[in-house]
Amino acid sequence: MMPSSSSSMSPDRPVLQATASLQLTSAFFGNLPLEVREMIYSEFWVVSGLNQHVFSHDGLLTHCPCLLVPGQEDERNDEFEEVWQNRRRSRTGSLVVDDKWSARFSSTWNDHWRCEEEMLSDPTRRRGTLFLPALLTCKRMYLEALQSLYASVTLVFIDLATAHHSLVASPTSTTPLLHSLQFSLAMPYDVLHQHRYYPTPAQNPGPWAELCTTLSNLVRFDSLRRVTLRLDLADDRNWWEVRERWALSAVRGMLARCLTVQLPEVTVSLEWLRPYQYADGDKTPFKLERYPRLQWVGTDEGPAACRLEFLRPVER
Ligand SMILES: [Zn+2]
Repeated sequence: MMPSSSSSMSPDRPVLQATASLQLTSAFFGNLPLEVREMIYSEFWVVSGLNQHVFSHDGLLTHCPCLLVPGQEDERNDEFEEVWQNRRRSRTGSLVVDDKWSARFSSTWNDHWRCEEEMLSDPTRRRGTLFLPALLTCKRMYLEALQSLYASVTLVFIDLATAHHSLVASPTSTTPLLHSLQFSLAMPYDVLHQHRYYPTPAQNPGPWAELCTTLSNLVRFDSLRRVTLRLDLADDRNWWEVRERWALSAVRGMLARCLTVQLPEVTVSLEWLRPYQYADGDKTPFKLERYPRLQWVGTDEGPAACRLEFLRPVER
């Protein structure tokens, strides 16, 4: 899945194993021990980018490096604050956002908007990696490098459709080799809760619950050891409306042990919401982190509008 641009086909590894030449006349396999070859492979992956976005582009699956630095704040919040304050000061009351920031505010790559920007500004960059050259050198290098590649690289998904297609609907023979996955998913409220609204076994629990089940199986039976899930809402609703414990009841089995969940900060705290939300200090089966949610929402007309999430709901 990862190195190719589109095909879900991947070579049959047992067949390759049986037919691979040892290539002992080459300096690489003839002179260098496996430990040194492994070090060389590792350097290949480092210069190519250890975190790789997997996304759909013109209908084809492709990849590009992820530039996000862990812990880095989303500077769009600060920029929006400034634009919003300018609007309040200006007589016209209009919201002035230049094209660059407008595209950033409306990025569908969520907190990875910089990665999207870089990908769009330099579409050839993803072809400058050493993934394919290493894997296409010969059968023996393919087999060796593949293990190393999937043990080293983290795949980053920014939409549920691509994640579901790649991991649930059309996994390849290399999917079990995956070691580390990251997701930054903004989903409609109904998708996030679907498995709780239609809970009978005969009914499809929906793509979100199916993804969680697949991840749990990859941890239990295969190589997956590290998963980060950052969640947000895709529709114009407040995060406090989300029944967090319901949404995350899709996380079952062994997945929780190697899972970090990142959720928006809860800005409204009310007694009747409490059973559904994770409060500070609550025991969770996974590691829970909070992040400040974006302060605006896009509207159908295009311009951004301030998100009034701090407004308290009506007491029930
Ligand atoms: Zn990224």
